[in-house]
Parts: sequence; C-alpha cells; structure tokens
Amino acid sequence: MSSVLDGFRDPEVAKRLVDAIHATATVPCKLMEVCGTHTMAIAKHGLRGLMPETITLLSGPGCPVCVTANPDIDLAIEIARQPGVVLATFGDMMKVPGSYSSLSGEKADGRDVRIVYSPLDSLTIAEKEPDKHVVFLGVGFETTAPTVALTIREAARRELPNWSALSLHKTVPEALRALVNDPEVQITGFILPGHVSTIIGTEPYEFLAREYGVPSVITGFEPVDVLQGVWMLSKQLAEGRAEVEIAYGRGVDAEGNPTAVAAMEAAFEPVDAEWRGIGVIPGTGLALRPEFAQYDARVRVPCTPPEPREIKGCQCGDVLRGVTLPFDCKLFGKGCTPEHPIGPCMVSSEGSCAAYYRYTDYGKE
Ligand code: SF4
Repeated sequence: MSSVLDGFRDPEVAKRLVDAIHATATVPCKLMEVCGTHTMAIAKHGLRGLMPETITLLSGPGCPVCVTANPDIDLAIEIARQPGVVLATFGDMMKVPGSYSSLSGEKADGRDVRIVYSPLDSLTIAEKEPDKHVVFLGVGFETTAPTVALTIREAARRELPNWSALSLHKTVPEALRALVNDPEVQITGFILPGHVSTIIGTEPYEFLAREYGVPSVITGFEPVDVLQGVWMLSKQLAEGRAEVEIAYGRGVDAEGNPTAVAAMEAAFEPVDAEWRGIGVIPGTGLALRPEFAQYDARVRVPCTPPEPREIKGCQCGDVLRGVTLPFDCKLFGKGCTPEHPIGPCMVSSEGSCAAYYRYTDYGKE
C-alpha cells in the first residue's frame, strides 16, 4: 500500500535534487543540521555521501538529551535520591551518564525512577500514590515544552500537592547565535529543525539572515525533504541571498503555532542555561514562573548535587558544536558503543555518535 510519504522517498526525485545540488554548490560551504531527527535521517539514508565535495554536512546541538549538561543530570539524580521521591521521565534520559552515575544506575541501586510515555502519566502516578512526591523530569526544546507547560497547568487545576516538574527545557534560536559567533565552527548555512519550527515559525530565526547574512531552510525528515533543504540553501548561497525559507510547508507555517507558544510562555520564563559543549547561553532555559513555584521541583525538592566533572576522553561537546566528527573521538566504537555509552551522543536515539555508529557504512567519510 502506498503512503503519503512515498513521494518524499522517491529515488527519482532524490536524484534530480542531488543533480541540482551538484550543479549549484560550486563554492565550499558548511551546512549544519540542528535537529537530531535530521542527523538520523542523513545517516540512515546515506545523504552525506551524495553531497558534492563543496558541501560539508555538520551535525549540531539538535539532540535535547545530548545538550543537557552534566550538572543538570547530576541534579536530576540527586533529586531521585531524596526519600519518598519518584522521578518520572522519558526513556531517552535513563542511560545518559552524569558526572558519577545515570538514572538507570540509580534505578538499579533501588531509587524509584520510572519511565513514562507522557508527562500526564506522571500526574496519574501522583494521584495514585499520595504518600510519594512525583517529580517529572522535562527535557526538550520548543517541541516538548508546551506539553509540559500544559501538564503544569493541569496539576494546578487538579490541585495536586505531591507533583512537581524539573524543567531542563531549552530554546533553540539563541544557540544558533552562539554557533555563528564561534570562530571554530564557521557555519555557512543552517538546516533548521522541522518540529521546533512548527511551534515557533520563522521569525525567531530571522536574525541569522539579518545580522549575520547566514541563510537557513526549515526542512522535514524524509530524504527528499533534507535534499530539498540542502538545494534551497545552495541556491541562496549561489544567488548571494540570506533568508529563512521553508521546505517543509506540510508541517510548518511562518507564524508557527501561537497557541502552543502562549501555553509555553504562560508556564515558563527564560533563564540562562548551560549547553553541553557550548556553555551558558543567556535566556535559553525555561524555568517555571514564580506563580507555579509549588510545582517547581527546584523549590519542592531542594538538594545540592556533588561537584560536576567531565567524562575523560569524551568529545561530545565538540561533536555537538560540529568541530569534531564522531569518528574522530578516540572512544568511538571502542570504549563507547550504544550498549556501553560513555557520552550522551551515543546514548540518545537522536545522538550524532549513535547515528554514525548505527549507519557507519553510510556515514563514514
Ligand atoms: S564516541 Fe562516545 S565518548 Fe566519544 S564523543 Fe561520542 S558519545 Fe562521547
């Protein structure tokens, strides 16, 4: 049975786009995808190998699990260690190593850490187990933050006394500014994330073109989507233009989703956030607003994690900035594999190292 997505995997269409890219991209450029799903799609479909020599495709900080810094993971672990606490989170976070441990390690040691499939599931746990305090660990970009925002509002509506959220959410656009300003990276264009852009639209990225003259294209996740995005970037560069364009019209409006943005802004306020490999970026974290303090785990379960430390030899930080390829890390495929990950980029299903490891024959250059 044919699917609506078949056209976005059509080899003939893909070939025409690859030919167009080769004809257009005559000057060397570095294009960075800022979405873990793009990273996986590029590796899985061997798109890197289809590029002309002029184009370098780099993976950026698009995996929310990967950019969560050690001190934040350490805090989640310390909260899970507090008596009476149930820490609920998505499965992706379980194996991510912090400075000394991981949530799955804590679970093995008897802490009450549970995987949920929706933030609302954590409210159900809190209702069913009133003698426990349930902390939902929220990690993700603008794509997931609105859902957690609505869960906070729902907890308030139900007047749940034993539930709170640890928000490690981050917002994407200002991280792109940090990358453009990083002299080691030197990005020529961005392949922008489809899902995040569904929420925020095009306006938050306009500064890339306006202030830095860097073109960008919002794309979807099928091979033809990504190739079309690369072709549109090549065209902008060849024509000396710098704009924010949409190659994913079936998923993204220029205005985004104002209802989701409003929900997010009602529950959260911007704070400085530490990004793994990039450092602290002002205003890119999302903290619960003071009026929701009784649902803020930082207020409800105060604790101090141990002094953080970086994992020796792990180059996740450089991989996330696009200055090191996963293959260049000495631990890649030796000490560090998806079964025994040393850094988050090998743990997450959207991590660059996991993508390169899984699709080595396609991704290796
Ligand atoms: S291979 Fe492992 S240790 Fe090296 S950068 Fe990737 S995740 Fe980190």
